[in-house]
Amino acid sequence: MIPVSKPYIGEEEKQAVMAVLDSGMIVQGPRVAEFEKQFAAVCGTKHAVATSSGTTALHLAMLAHGLGPGDEVITTPFTFIASVNSILYAGATPVLVDIEEDTFNIDPEAIERAITPRTKAILCVHLFGHLCDMDALQGIANKHGLALIEDACQSVGGTYKGKVAGSFGTGTFSLYATKNVMSVEGGMITTNDDEIADQCRLLRSHGMRRRYYYDMLGYNFRMTDIHAAVGIAQLNRLEATTVKRQENAAYLSARLESVVVPTVREGYEHVWHQYTIRVDGGRDRDAAVQQLADNGVGSGIFYPVPAHQHDYMRKIVGDLTFPVSEKAAAEVISLPVHPLLSQADLEKIVAEVNKL
Ligand SMILES: *Cc1c(COP(=O)(O)O)cnc(C)c1O
Repeated sequence: MIPVSKPYIGEEEKQAVMAVLDSGMIVQGPRVAEFEKQFAAVCGTKHAVATSSGTTALHLAMLAHGLGPGDEVITTPFTFIASVNSILYAGATPVLVDIEEDTFNIDPEAIERAITPRTKAILCVHLFGHLCDMDALQGIANKHGLALIEDACQSVGGTYKGKVAGSFGTGTFSLYATKNVMSVEGGMITTNDDEIADQCRLLRSHGMRRRYYYDMLGYNFRMTDIHAAVGIAQLNRLEATTVKRQENAAYLSARLESVVVPTVREGYEHVWHQYTIRVDGGRDRDAAVQQLADNGVGSGIFYPVPAHQHDYMRKIVGDLTFPVSEKAAAEVISLPVHPLLSQADLEKIVAEVNKL
């Protein structure tokens, strides 16, 4: 079976982990500091703050922006659930709005319509590796004085008009095992704002500036040097793995028939965390997934249920309908696009998808 994703672990990762273990400095130490510096350089931001996961990065971003009870944060229902959960962790209110059909990303016009006097932030999600319409989102955020937080968990290195994901507002990243850059588990917050960076650093380690003196209620959301060592090795390979993902995506898009292939808008560099097709026209998507699996092609459904349709979320946000998100949830299939695919794998994926 060709897996839909596969962690790329080379000798560099293994040696880097052993070196950390041998050094005796295994918790948040010099490797974490080095990883943060390199990550900030990739994003073109002044700061990067490492965390234990993408979810904790999102949670800290909410807290660092002072979001809490009574504050509304506008986001998308067509995302991994952590985006919406992070708003709830802070005690703020998620306000969901629909997506754009071609990119699967939040619709700027829908954001405008959802703004109230209580709106404090926009949490946009750069889904699958294609950035949101950042000119529009920055325009709305500036006009209404809102914080702009980017869930860039799937888009490390992705760009819009040459500007990198995580550099438009406060960026949050996941370094989970299947992401384009991974540290097994881990996360990162990027910002040019000294105050936000300082708050994130404090909050991730019990609000402690001086050992055992606490400024505020904080958490243990630290990254370890073992994880950072893996992340550094991964980051060194980012350019090469991104090119490979882009080549694989181009190969598939040139050959797939009878399914809707993903869009790349003018001015965007897609980094292909996922290569997501649509099985449209009312065809049975789940049967298509099964047929692919029966013939050795792994795939994923990201995501089968939009956030507003989970029972626990329905109790919080009420009964909402988002037609574009719901249609996407019923039609999408993500195909393997990862850098470890062989030419034979690519040919097989094309052949099997074209039989659907
Ligand atoms: C992976 C992901 C997260 C959460 O990251 P974890 O590291 O798994 O906590 C959040 N948002 C999106 C869009 C993701 O893809």
